[in-house]
Amino acid sequence: MIYLGKLKLRWCHACNVPVLGERCGICQGETEQVQLTPPGDVRPAFKHDRELLREVIMRQFGVAFVPDVVILNDAPAVDRMDEVIFDGRVAGTLRYDIEERRYRFLPRIWYARLLEPGRGYVVADEGAVQPILDSENLMAPGVVDVSDDVADGDEVVVCNPDGAVIAAGTARMDAGEMRRSNRGMAVKVRRKGTPEMVPRERPSWDDVLDANADILDGIVGEAMSFIRSTAASHDMPLAVSFSGGKDSLATLLLVREAGYAPPLLFVDTGLEFEETVGHVHDIAERFDLPLHEEHAGDIFWETLPFFGPPARDRRWCCKTCKLGPTTRLIDRYFPDGVLSFIGQRRYESMQRSQKGRVWHNPWVEQQIGASPIQHWTALHVWLYLFRKQRDEGVDWNPLYEQGFARIGCWCCPASDLSEFELLDSRRWEHFAGYLERYARRHGCSDAWLEQGLWRWHTPPDWADDPGEQTLERELGVEPDDERVVNMLACLGPVEATSDGYHVGDISIDVGENGIEVSPSERAAEVRETVDRALHCTGCGVCVGQCEVDAISLTDGRAWIDDAVCLHCGVCSDLCPVVVFGRRGSR
Ligand SMILES: [Zn+2]
Repeated sequence: MIYLGKLKLRWCHACNVPVLGERCGICQGETEQVQLTPPGDVRPAFKHDRELLREVIMRQFGVAFVPDVVILNDAPAVDRMDEVIFDGRVAGTLRYDIEERRYRFLPRIWYARLLEPGRGYVVADEGAVQPILDSENLMAPGVVDVSDDVADGDEVVVCNPDGAVIAAGTARMDAGEMRRSNRGMAVKVRRKGTPEMVPRERPSWDDVLDANADILDGIVGEAMSFIRSTAASHDMPLAVSFSGGKDSLATLLLVREAGYAPPLLFVDTGLEFEETVGHVHDIAERFDLPLHEEHAGDIFWETLPFFGPPARDRRWCCKTCKLGPTTRLIDRYFPDGVLSFIGQRRYESMQRSQKGRVWHNPWVEQQIGASPIQHWTALHVWLYLFRKQRDEGVDWNPLYEQGFARIGCWCCPASDLSEFELLDSRRWEHFAGYLERYARRHGCSDAWLEQGLWRWHTPPDWADDPGEQTLERELGVEPDDERVVNMLACLGPVEATSDGYHVGDISIDVGENGIEVSPSERAAEVRETVDRALHCTGCGVCVGQCEVDAISLTDGRAWIDDAVCLHCGVCSDLCPVVVFGRRGSR
C-alpha cells in the first residue's frame, strides 16, 4: 500500500460534519478519525457524483438515500473506485467494472439497514442467521425468500426473517435457482453484522465550512507565509503555473492573498477541454493578470504515428506536448529565470510525495517550482475554493461539476475508463479509430481495446493479455539527408570523407546496404541520432537543454549551429524520440 501521509479526514459526531482537524469549529468538541483506505485524498461529491450514486443504488436496491454532504475517497483499484462517506463512516464503495462497463455499489451493512431495499435482497431462514453472522455464506436451502430481480453476480443484501439486513455480498445464483435448489451457495457474503442505527441530523456544505473555519484560516496563513518567504529568498520574477485545474486555482488565489499579482503561465497541449481553455482566460481577465500562453498545436497528432499510443509507462506526450512548450514559454518570457508557484500535492502520487516543497525542475533549466499546497488533500483545496466562491464569487473549472475529478488532457492514459465514458463521443471516436487501426497492425486482442490496455506499454498485473506484437523496424535511412548530417554534430565534429563521414572518433561508411559504423559499440548512438534527425517532433526540449544555445528550431525541427555546439550530447539524452522510440519496435 502506498502511504503518503497520515489520514486527515476526521468527523464531529455531535454536529455530523467532516472536519480536517482535531476540533470542530461549530461545537468546539473533539473529532474522531474516519476509518478509510489510505492514502485518503478525500474530496467532496459534486451534484453529478451524487446523481450517479443515486442512480446506481436505485438500480440495485430499488431505493436510494444520498445526502447533500458526501465525501469521496479515491481508493487504489483497476479503475475508478471511491469509498462513499457520510455520517462519519463509509457507507459503501462505488466501483467501475471494466468488463461490464458499468458501475456497482457495494454497501456497508449500516447503510443497507438505512435503505431497507425493495429489490436486490435475499431473506435467510432463522437457522441460517447465526452461521452468517459467524462468517459463513448463505446456502440455497437457507433461502426463505428472494426478490425476483436477483441475477447471478448481482450485489445483494441478506435479511433475517424480520426483514432486517444482516449481511451484504454477491449472488451466486439467480432468483429462480435460489428458490428451486436445495444445494450450493446462494450468496457469497462479504460483510455482515447488526450495527445499531442512530438517527442523524444531516448538515449542509455551509455547516462544513463553519466547522472547518479555523482550520482553513490556519492552512491559508501558513501557505501565505510560505509564499512570502520563498519569494523573499529567491531574487527572481514570480509567476503561477496555471493549468485550469482546482489545485492551480487554489495556488493562484493564495499567491494573490499573499499580496502578489503574478502573471499566469499556461501551456495548451492541444488536448485540452474547451472548458479548461475558457476557464484559464476567464480567470486571467477577472483578476486582470497577464496570461503568458504557449501552444503545442497539433504535435500530438503529428507524432502519434511514430510514438504509438501514449501509455502510463511511456508518456512521450508529456515531453512533446507539455514540457517542450513550457521550455519555450519560459525561454521567451523569463530567459533569466522564474520562481513559479505550482499547485502540486503529495497526496497525488508517490513521486510528488517524495519531492520537497521547493524544487528545481531538471527539464526546465530556468524554473524554480514551489508548492504552497504540498500537504493539502483535495478536500482542503475544495473547502478553500468553496469559501472563495461564497465570499468572492470565484468560479472553478465547470468540468468538476460534470463528473471529472481530475482535469488534464482528455485522452491522458492515466485516466480511468470511467473518465473516458464522460467524453463527447465525437471527440473520442477520432482517437478510438486510431487505436483500432493500431490494434489491427499489432495483433492486439479485443481486451486490449475494450479494457483500455493500450494505456500500458507493459500490460499491468491484473490484465490477462499478451499485449501487442513487436514490429520490425521500418526506418528508411537517407544518409545524405542534410538534417542527419547536421544532427550528427551532437556526437562530435562532422567531416565528410570519400565513403561517408567522420564524427569525432566515429567513422560512418555509407554503402548500398545501409551504413556501417566503427567502432561498432557506437552504432546505437548513431542510429538514435539518425532517428532524432528524421523524426524530430519540434518539441523544443533540446533547445532548453543546450547550455550554449546551439540549437534552434527551423521549419519546426531542431537544427544545430555547428560553430557553437560543444558536441556534449546532452540534447540527445532527453530527446523524446531517443528516450521513447517507436512504440512496438524495440
Ligand atoms: Zn461539532
